[in-house]
Amino acid sequence: MDYAALHQRSLQDRDAYWREQSARIDWRRRPDQVCDTSNPPFARWFVGGQTNLCHNAVDRHLPHRADQPALIHVSTETGTEQVLTYAQLHREVQAMASMLQSLGVRQGDRVLLYMPMIPQAVIAMLATVRLGAIHSVVFGGFASNSLASRIDDARPKVIVTADGGSRGGKVVAYKPLLDEALRQATHAVDHVLLVDRGLAPADRLPPRDVDFTRLREQHLNKPDIPCAWVDATHPSYILYTSGTTGKPKGVQRDTGGYAVALAASMEQLYQGRPGETFFCASDIGWVVGHSYIVYGPLITGMATIVYEGLPIRPDAAIWWSLVEKYKVSVMFSAPTAIRVLKKQDPACLSKHDLSSLKQLFLAGEPLDEPTARWITDALGKPVVDNYWQTETGWPILSVPRGVQADLPAKFGSPGVAMPGYDVRLLNEATGEELTAVDQKGVVAIRYPLPPGCLQTVWGDDERYVKTYWRSFGATPEFYNTFDWGIRDADGYHFILGRTDDVINVAGHRLGTREIEEAISSHAAVAEVAVVGVHDALKGQVPMAFAVLKNAAAADTPEAAQALEADVMRKVDQHLGAVGRPSRVVFVNALPKTRSGKLLRRAIQAVCEGRDAGDLTTIEDPVALAQLEQQLNTP
Ligand code: ATP
Ligand code: MG
Repeated sequence: MDYAALHQRSLQDRDAYWREQSARIDWRRRPDQVCDTSNPPFARWFVGGQTNLCHNAVDRHLPHRADQPALIHVSTETGTEQVLTYAQLHREVQAMASMLQSLGVRQGDRVLLYMPMIPQAVIAMLATVRLGAIHSVVFGGFASNSLASRIDDARPKVIVTADGGSRGGKVVAYKPLLDEALRQATHAVDHVLLVDRGLAPADRLPPRDVDFTRLREQHLNKPDIPCAWVDATHPSYILYTSGTTGKPKGVQRDTGGYAVALAASMEQLYQGRPGETFFCASDIGWVVGHSYIVYGPLITGMATIVYEGLPIRPDAAIWWSLVEKYKVSVMFSAPTAIRVLKKQDPACLSKHDLSSLKQLFLAGEPLDEPTARWITDALGKPVVDNYWQTETGWPILSVPRGVQADLPAKFGSPGVAMPGYDVRLLNEATGEELTAVDQKGVVAIRYPLPPGCLQTVWGDDERYVKTYWRSFGATPEFYNTFDWGIRDADGYHFILGRTDDVINVAGHRLGTREIEEAISSHAAVAEVAVVGVHDALKGQVPMAFAVLKNAAAADTPEAAQALEADVMRKVDQHLGAVGRPSRVVFVNALPKTRSGKLLRRAIQAVCEGRDAGDLTTIEDPVALAQLEQQLNTP
């Protein structure tokens, strides 16, 4: 059977397919029903089954791999490294679960984590689901108002935090940010559990605030805290989307479907084997971190690297030195990080023995062809794009491996639909399905979403239905990804950008991504953002903001002008004059979310003289201010 046949089977023989996949995890009670589709667009997976995520990630491995590394923590910020075996991780998770219990956490309660990348963050996630409680990880260092709105939405009983985190050698004190957020929030928490790393000053407000180290001592040798066997459909966590296009949505994930989907993806895509090491250089604040720093690798019985630090500190070889030292077999990162590395010395990659590494996976953003080619050549290993969303929890499109036959990758495409995903392209206006090749449509997923995808928006079923399922008519048949795509004759999809990133120039609809691709193929350009700006005559005109590989190339007004003209010529060649930006502004940095996504809507607002809107997830407000300044200096 070839891959296409396998994929077809996952849709046509859905229940049999997923019943087979469900054998990849441990069940306390096996499911009676594979998928309950009685109330679309909701789908309930593995109904009647009982399991526990922490059991599958930790306890299950104790008989065979108690002494094998499970969690490898490396901080280039504090200069520390620590390895926990599965037995040690089990002990710490039990202690943390016991502590949370003593603070009043019960099944179904929420535990919010506002944590840096330290072992206690992963331990707290595992301990929470062990109790059948629901975690909500908020990216560490988010501003108080972003944190406050998530506290009010998730209404946690306990918050686990640390005194601070560190990025690029700069300490960020978390506790004052949390204290401020708790003042702003209307919801009151019972307790704050504080891990004091000795990095930053932290006020303690007893009896609300409890010291982790002291409480741990009391709970380390307490009797076992068994895993709470919960229904497969019991929520395991709430995680907010990145907020690239507006107010973040609280994605609610189930337990059984998620565990099964992750286990399947580890086999069919990432190809990580028990005993090997997985290095996902993301943050536990994002979905990639939830699925592939914590749950995916641990469910598989791998060691996972939890890394606190930048990819270029102490130098650009740091990741590759970890690959060598811990014999990493699978690595996962984002295109934005690769673009950062690309600006550094390429020799960094050749200094280390990378023979253990099988593949590098990249996700989160379009992987442009120049970046893909650069890293593929530099590594000499397969580089695999994968396309998904916080909502889906695991890849929608990629290039499955080891499933019947290895498919070849195609530059510029994240690949084909993963098993279980019925991906369709729809006409945005009519909802009609586009079946011919190379037609541009909205990427949609036919009901039901496979296991592991969001159950609903936390506390707001109506928002879930309205946001995702009502775009193409009244019957909730298609889930809207809000991304544009095309499909070629081999079933490979190309993501052309977000549906709200389309520019309408005198009636021509252009994706910002298409113009960006053309500009980034210019040798001088490191990174670029294109936005549509209101124009009285044409409706909208594209405007480009480019970061140069070498800023000196546009040092003088004459040099900048010549380069601008040259970049415009590139666009003319690739797309024709309709795509030519009205201006190409050279900037030092582009405004991005904390997860590295371009904040085009903020740039657009600045260009149109509007308020930049919700900036709670912005990485560096200075980049936007500078961009505004550079825009206004002709
Ligand atoms: P929000 O939904 O709050 O606006 P967001 O969409 O950025 O934020 P995420 O769930 O983190 O939140 O990101 C998912 C989106 O990222 C996808 O819908 C797509 O636009 C983009 N994306 C992710 N991976 C890829 C990829 N491999 N290629 C192209 N785009 C990608
Ligand atoms: Mg989104």
